Amino acid sequence: MADPKGFLTTARQEWPRRPVGERVRDWDEVYVPGALLPIVERQADRCMDCGVPFCHEACPLGNLIPDWNDLVSRADWHAAAERLHATNNFPEFTGRLCPAPCEAGCVLAINQPAVTIKNVEVAVADRIWADGLAPPRPPERLSGRTVAVVGSGPAGLAAAQQLTRAGHTVAVYERDDRPGGLLRYGIPDFKMEKAHLERRLGQLAAEGVRFRTSTEVGRDVGAAELRGRYDAVVLAVGATAWRDLDVPGRELAGIEQAMAYLPLANRVCAGDLAASPLSAARKHVVIVGGGDTGADCLGTAIREGAATVTQLDIYARPDASRDEETEPWPTYPKVHRLSPAHEEAGQLRTAPATGTGSDTDARLYAASTLRFDGDAAGHVRALHLTEVDAARRPLPGTERELPADLVLLALGFSGPDRTAGGLLDQLGVDLDERGVLARDDRFATNVPGVFATGDAARGQSLVVWAIAEGRATAAAVDRWLTGATELPSPITPHDRPMTV
Ligand SMILES: Cc1cc2nc3c(=O)[nH]c(=O)nc-3n(C[C@H](O)[C@H](O)[C@H](O)COP(=O)(O)OP(=O)(O)OC[C@H]3O[C@@H](n4cnc5c(N)ncnc54)[C@H](O)[C@@H]3O)c2cc1C
Ligand code: SF4
Repeated sequence: MADPKGFLTTARQEWPRRPVGERVRDWDEVYVPGALLPIVERQADRCMDCGVPFCHEACPLGNLIPDWNDLVSRADWHAAAERLHATNNFPEFTGRLCPAPCEAGCVLAINQPAVTIKNVEVAVADRIWADGLAPPRPPERLSGRTVAVVGSGPAGLAAAQQLTRAGHTVAVYERDDRPGGLLRYGIPDFKMEKAHLERRLGQLAAEGVRFRTSTEVGRDVGAAELRGRYDAVVLAVGATAWRDLDVPGRELAGIEQAMAYLPLANRVCAGDLAASPLSAARKHVVIVGGGDTGADCLGTAIREGAATVTQLDIYARPDASRDEETEPWPTYPKVHRLSPAHEEAGQLRTAPATGTGSDTDARLYAASTLRFDGDAAGHVRALHLTEVDAARRPLPGTERELPADLVLLALGFSGPDRTAGGLLDQLGVDLDERGVLARDDRFATNVPGVFATGDAARGQSLVVWAIAEGRATAAAVDRWLTGATELPSPITPHDRPMTV
């Protein structure tokens, strides 16, 4: 740290967001372009370079946070980038998308606002791309071994890059028309513009990764053929089986899964479609589900010009600050957070008059859906809900109706796609009791030479965990292929976020 008193003299300052009225008229990222660089060196200087940096432990990748904070505070951006890439293949993804458990574990956060670790990370990543210092790093020698990676989300991409750099010949199979997994089709462009993804994909391709898009393994290519053609197979197929809502009226038109809705908006941004066939324009939208996918639907519906948008959360409104008894520092607490989409909803007052326990930012808490009403044409027109207690028992007298002509279900995902006769059936891989891919301590499934990584095996998680999974699985595959590995392995299959 250039200034040992930086944390005393400099206040936390985050990357400023563009005004709500401006940003909801486009799909660009919500932050003010160019406004991070002028503040970030001073922000990095707030890092205390603690003897025991808990941020390392809190970051699934084990990012060397105090090291790069120090280098940024001294304006040594290129050394900072080297240190950052030692642990993270895609810091421009995590620097935009990660909920930053590292900041919850920052020692400064015990009694002051944490260091803006995530902002420093994205500033370093963007800076080295701008300076042309993220060249492809193809291997010096090829091993003669081949690996098929099925799925091109962050887990598959991280595994592919690590294995390619270790000298193996890697092909990535993806059933969508473009690689990226949820980074491409799911996560809205206002959270991460796809140019960042394209740049990394170009780097991977230049290093030797081959992409086979529009190819569903289990349908377009048989699992047996894949096993015969490659020395190892990595299943990085994600947890794409969505949960549904079993209430009267569910069959009505206009009730859609979030993951049917969000990719269409991505396709509009990509220029594939002039308008989304499920656009929220001029509609009364209700989002069922209080998580991040729901928040992404909220920001998307606002940009599409919805008449009203309300988001239902089954849980009670969390407190503003952490409960020191149940979620002490350095764990990642369940507190009330205002995402950019909620900030937009609050300022634009997108929700119709909300009742007891409501927020001003479109969220209705402790709200459980009872049924849907339809019109004569069989289209949804209203959603009935009730408030519930902590045990999800309805509270008498709290039933109410919301106008709804587009309902988006954002209720989470139960595990990988288990279509009968599909990839998993053909391979004969075991699932565990949660319905995700079972694997041993070395990321190996019950089928020899077949490994499982990312959300498909961990269950619905985060980009940072997916990258850590991909890196660790690559190390396991490299060891299996060659008997030894020098690739880093940041996590085990059993590691979980830090809790009490
Ligand atoms: C809407 C939404 C928003 C999110 N926002 C965030 C966020 O802001 N921050 C964050 O950290 N996390 C976020 N997440 C979670 C994060 O995106 C996931 O944890 C992460 O993408 C998982 O990576 P993965 O590589 O395991 O799987 P995925 O990204 O799901 O990729 C799996 C890929 O496998 C492909 N595939 C599946 N079966 C086959 C087959 N048989 N043949 C070929 N290809 C196949 C799929 O098409 C897909 O492209 C979000 C999730 C959703 C749904
Ligand atoms: S990847 Fe996430 S947890 Fe790790 S340093 Fe970056 S923001 Fe923090």
